[in-house]
Amino acid sequence: MSTDSAINHIVILGAGQSAASAAKTLRNGGYTGDLTLIGEENHLPYERPPLSKALLTGTATEESVCLLTQSFVEQHDIDFRRNVSARSIDREAQHVILSDGAQVPYDRLLIATGSHPRHLGNDLDSKSNVFYLRTIEDARAIRSALVPGGTLLALGAGWIGLEVAATARRLGMDVVVVEMADRACGRSLPNEVGEALIKLHEGHGTRVLLATQVSTIEGTDKVERVTLNNGEVLDISAVIVGIGAVANDDLARAAELEVVDTGGIVVDRFTRTSDPHIYASGDVAVVKVGANLVRFESWANAQDQGVAAAKNMLGQDISYEPNTWFWSDQYDINIQMIGRITDPGATVHTRPGENGRFTNFYVTNGRIDGVITFGQPRDMSFARKLIQKGYEVTGDELVTTENLRKLI
Ligand SMILES: Cc1cc2nc3c(=O)[nH]c(=O)nc-3n(C[C@H](O)[C@H](O)[C@H](O)COP(=O)(O)OP(=O)(O)OC[C@H]3O[C@@H](n4cnc5c(N)ncnc54)[C@H](O)[C@@H]3O)c2cc1C
Repeated sequence: MSTDSAINHIVILGAGQSAASAAKTLRNGGYTGDLTLIGEENHLPYERPPLSKALLTGTATEESVCLLTQSFVEQHDIDFRRNVSARSIDREAQHVILSDGAQVPYDRLLIATGSHPRHLGNDLDSKSNVFYLRTIEDARAIRSALVPGGTLLALGAGWIGLEVAATARRLGMDVVVVEMADRACGRSLPNEVGEALIKLHEGHGTRVLLATQVSTIEGTDKVERVTLNNGEVLDISAVIVGIGAVANDDLARAAELEVVDTGGIVVDRFTRTSDPHIYASGDVAVVKVGANLVRFESWANAQDQGVAAAKNMLGQDISYEPNTWFWSDQYDINIQMIGRITDPGATVHTRPGENGRFTNFYVTNGRIDGVITFGQPRDMSFARKLIQKGYEVTGDELVTTENLRKLI
């Protein structure tokens, strides 16, 4: 990796997925200047997907979800400041001011501050058995509230709510999912796949109530009972709220970088913000996709955009194409998706599997725009290759060909 001699100090704000990926790329690529990593959590960088899955069931540990080890940090001379947050960015002086009063100068700054759960903003927020999930501490608290025989109320049928619901069922709880919209994962999934997800949950004994809301709650410190707007009364022991995430873009807003009203820092295809010395990546960044500004919230995007940002901070012009791959695990079903899957004009080619499993190809003008595998992860590796080579769909071969490999 070539380095620009004028770049002697790179500062990364946030110490999560994207930050760790950028820091590793910088050091593994030969950057020898100062590298400061600032994280408000009191942890080494760790990955979040297991928080709603393996860490909750106990099949992963807090150590196993770590992205950078202490020895990597030391061996690679990373000035890692944990448990301290960035308070402001002085763009003119090119330094960051931290919550402990320190001023950290930068030649290049990467903002990788991620996002935080959207809150309900009502009485439920103050109850001790109502949880949001973003951090290891959240996962610990939720884990101790998932008690066999209890009832979990999941507010929101999005990824987090459904994953925790599946985990709670596995741990022996009764689960009710309450979603105000008329479908599951409405922002990210086509309706037919949302329906398959609901069926999956119902098949495991979870009740999924769409177009439903909580009207009233009872309980002082804890919520003990809720009444729904359909009149139903539920006795509950814990609540998980998963109603979306909000970009941690306050620093950028205060520093008058370009941000969008709905949240997120606008970056160009070189991961640069409106200030040429400042970059952004991961959940906090917004990129242009066609005519739209899109904020991706996924492991793969955080990872790859962090790599691109690191290289671009060193003067390589890496044009970043968002990595759209996403996965989720619920019960014994692995769901993966890639590409554009919500285009209303696409034709859906469904490859059925056993026990409700399937693979959907979304085809527009003979090209595969996107793919969802529902319990058939093997299909994803073939699907990726078909997309990469621009495979032209001529008939129903995606459905009828016994082995997709033959089409590659
Ligand atoms: C429970 C859960 C399950 C998930 N499951 C999946 C999955 O199955 N598949 C998938 O593709 N994606 C999944 N995701 C999404 C994925 O984990 C995120 O997209 C990814 O973590 C984003 O990485 P990031 O680096 O942008 O942000 P983060 O990993 O959130 O890191 C940002 C860090 O910056 C810190 N920070 C914020 N502000 C400041 C400040 N001012 N100063 C210092 N530090 C600050 C934050 O505390 C945080 O530690 C899941 C997310 C969650 C929460």
